[in-house]
Amino acid sequence: MWFQVMAAANGFHNGRGHATFGPGQLRAMLLTADRSTGEISEPAPATVSRAIKVCIERGLLGAASQSSCLVVPGHAISGGIGLAACKVHDRTRATSRKQAVSD
Ligand SMILES: [Zn+2]
Repeated sequence: MWFQVMAAANGFHNGRGHATFGPGQLRAMLLTADRSTGEISEPAPATVSRAIKVCIERGLLGAASQSSCLVVPGHAISGGIGLAACKVHDRTRATSRKQAVSD
């Protein structure tokens, strides 16, 4: 599963290395098939989270990666369309800045 997560990040990241996904969108991309029945199913959210964690531990994704945005490390960014700000991480940073100012 970790390889599929890494492939999704590398296939969909923008020029800043962020690959954003809507709710459940990443899980839908990681379908698995039961080898005995052929039944196709989405992985559990915890399975996706574990795969993301493995990618982070192996240095394949940035530590800020989550199911709504996979962050490709700077040294691994190749291409990518657009330089739009990340709706997931820039919102987090903006919230952190507001909290720091108000504290
Ligand atoms: Zn992001």
